[in-house]
Amino acid sequence: MDILPYGRQSIDASDLQAITESIQSGWLTTGPKVDEFEEAFADRVGAKHAVAVCNATAALHLAMLVAEIGPGDRVITSPNTFLASANCAAFVGATPDFCDIDPVTYNLDPAKLAADWKSDTRGVVAVDYAGQTADMVAISKIARQHGAVVIEDACHGVGGQFEHQARHHKIGGHSWADITTFSFHPVKTMTCGEGGMLVTDNDQYAQRARRLRSHGMVREPENFRGLGEGGKNTGDTALDEQGPWYYEMHDLGFNYRITDFQCALGLSQLSRLDSFLNRRREIVAAYNDAFASNDWIRTPGLRNERDRDLTSWHLYTIMVDFERLGVTRSSMMKSLRAKRVGTQVLYIPVHLQPWYQSTFGYRAGKCPIAEQYYRQCLSLPLFPEMSDADVQLVIESMLEVTNPK
Ligand SMILES: *Cc1c(COP(=O)(O)O)cnc(C)c1O
Repeated sequence: MDILPYGRQSIDASDLQAITESIQSGWLTTGPKVDEFEEAFADRVGAKHAVAVCNATAALHLAMLVAEIGPGDRVITSPNTFLASANCAAFVGATPDFCDIDPVTYNLDPAKLAADWKSDTRGVVAVDYAGQTADMVAISKIARQHGAVVIEDACHGVGGQFEHQARHHKIGGHSWADITTFSFHPVKTMTCGEGGMLVTDNDQYAQRARRLRSHGMVREPENFRGLGEGGKNTGDTALDEQGPWYYEMHDLGFNYRITDFQCALGLSQLSRLDSFLNRRREIVAAYNDAFASNDWIRTPGLRNERDRDLTSWHLYTIMVDFERLGVTRSSMMKSLRAKRVGTQVLYIPVHLQPWYQSTFGYRAGKCPIAEQYYRQCLSLPLFPEMSDADVQLVIESMLEVTNPK
């Protein structure tokens, strides 16, 4: 029997039909499904603009570019994240930096962000770890006080919401982030195979992101400048003629486009998103119940208890004191695997990665809570197609391996 992975996509017949129809339509790269997916996604999260790209790493890179973050600037993110949340700052020549996490939510700690603020900080990438929103209200208050841009890395948070002052706010649709990014990698909440989305209410950010997604090219005649000296029309008929072939490049862009059939899959997955989220919440509730009285397992903590059923729950991460239990994490993972239960460790603190140590001089001790978290974290299988028997298998296996002799 297959090992249960920590996360996995759900593809059904309607998804396959959507992909097939899209490919048969003849559009393979940018076509009508891209616009349709962007509109449906913006509508779903309550944002003005959604720009679909080939992956979320590209969306984060574009976020840095449109916010005009570059050399001499510092960007703060959480050490408890995937590499891309920090790498995006390095892509544009800025300095990625890290601020320690909150021991309950495993998200960027706003008190530490305020205390560690440096005058060259131009951006904050707040990561919604496991789907729980970072404390966006507090983080944006600090960042905006200093004129910094707030980017919410919501790669774990597709479809998630949080409560603030008795109201529900959608990730991507609230005003405490300037730009929000989402991932549609197969392990995330919904998938396009590969894919990402940049969401913003800022017209200029959206327009620049769209342009940079495809080589910085301009095709709308009203924006043309000309090919003459200084990039202007000069009266030279051959140079000034602008026929149907004509385009201009105004910025140094990339090929960060997503295909039409990926967006067709995205649309189909979006229509299934609520069923994914509901099943994830059911499984999380079953785990929480089963582990509530287990001294060895710490279940995921929330900043606000009322967010329990608003959170999208990309990951179910527990904390285990392996040292006190007298087993190593890798041996426990091996025992679980023998019982068909796959687990994962998310994340290695990014500042400890060799490239970050050698490039920026970061060392162990910089973010002690994230480092302590890393010693004890373990993510259990969580995906919508898990059967009740699968969930029971994970629970029973966890209770067995945390039963000290
Ligand atoms: C997955 C992920 C990314 C990168 O997403 P891709 O679509 O794979 O590029 C960035 N940040 C976080 C927090 C992620 O989990």
